[in-house]
Amino acid sequence: MSKKTLIIGAGGVGNVVAFKCAMNEATFGAITLASRTVSKCEVIASNIKQRTGVTIATATVDADRVDELIKLIEKCNADIVINVALPYQDLTIMEACIATGVDYLDTANYEHPDTAKFEYKEQWAKDDAFKEAGVMGLLGSGFDPGVTNLFCAYAQKHYFDEIHTIDILDCNGGDHGYPFATNFNPEINLREVSAKGRYWQEGKWIETEPMEIMQVWDYPQIGKKDSYLLYHEEMESLVKHIKGLKRIRFFMTFGQSYLTHLKCLENVGMLGIKEVEHKGMKIVPMEFLATLLPDPASLGERTVGKTNIGIYAKGIKDGKEKTVYIYQVSDHQKCYDEVMSQAVSYTTGVPAMIGAKLMLEGRWQGQGVFNIEEFDPDPFMEELNQQGLPWQVEFL
Ligand code: NDP
Repeated sequence: MSKKTLIIGAGGVGNVVAFKCAMNEATFGAITLASRTVSKCEVIASNIKQRTGVTIATATVDADRVDELIKLIEKCNADIVINVALPYQDLTIMEACIATGVDYLDTANYEHPDTAKFEYKEQWAKDDAFKEAGVMGLLGSGFDPGVTNLFCAYAQKHYFDEIHTIDILDCNGGDHGYPFATNFNPEINLREVSAKGRYWQEGKWIETEPMEIMQVWDYPQIGKKDSYLLYHEEMESLVKHIKGLKRIRFFMTFGQSYLTHLKCLENVGMLGIKEVEHKGMKIVPMEFLATLLPDPASLGERTVGKTNIGIYAKGIKDGKEKTVYIYQVSDHQKCYDEVMSQAVSYTTGVPAMIGAKLMLEGRWQGQGVFNIEEFDPDPFMEELNQQGLPWQVEFL
């Protein structure tokens, strides 16, 4: 029987997910794309029709409201909900999936709008409710989190007896030509990069000042880049699931111009997430800044260059020390040519589609809430090669 797929969120990532699901129509069946602003879904649906010939349905939904979500899920008779709205909507969409008995997938962990802190706590707490409802929730099926978790699981399965250290290395060597813009949702992005850094060592989290630790990494196909230590959510689940781990860190590249803009914006209070009074109105500075910045979905056409995201793992195999680097390189313009999005949205949307594909095809099954590295990485790694994200491995 043909499946029914509901995608929520019609931003940069939602566009890629909708395109790639349509390109795998045999698995995804009848596809509905829903968002707060239905006109955004209609533009995507029209582009998909023009480029692939596939018709997808559109709908409007406020995903902060569980009642609206339940109605929509029931109307679509969905077999799976792919959540690519914002992290603020994770819990309400999970609630609606529990209520309707439908599988759930997302790409970013829950964040409370008033506290810039990523944590799996509240999503993991829904494990029993997912089990009782007999449904599966797959958390973090983007690139990082997502593919980076699977690179670690793949390394653990095929290359190591024990992994001792992991560095996750995220490089965007792309240029969109604007003095300052973010490659995905500005609010989520700026909250992430302006927060304190954190890494895990010998069972403890160690906090750093924002951008305090910098290392230069040489990224294949891009070159040497300043890379800054940040906290990133996949580390929270990887420390639970990777055997013998002693340290895990996450690094992301930033250019000097980006950092100078960020510092100025922070110094004048534009990164604030608490309401301030402005001419009798209440505004949140970060939300106002997000309104001024270019829409990430509009960067696709003008972005050139490549991304390279991977993991650098050191450990032991058959009593000998070993170092393995697994990475994936994407070209912004190639992504745009295929699905009208730059590589940051592409590298997130393709893994979201692949996770959902494995669930719908029954290749990844379970009841409860799971992080992606809890499943066999092999079918996902094969799909990456087939669906536009070929990866490489180097033994160093
Ligand atoms: P965008 O801001 O481009 O898009 C978000 C979409 O969500 C918008 O279309 C918006 O709708 C919709 N939305 C927001 N609030 C609601 C709501 N209450 N109800 C319904 N729809 C809503 O973000 P991106 O596409 O760049 O990112 C999407 C997700 O992907 C985010 O959670 C982000 O954190 C995650 N991500 C994950 C990555 C990974 O590698 N794991 C990397 C990059 C992003 P409207 O426009 O109608 O208001």
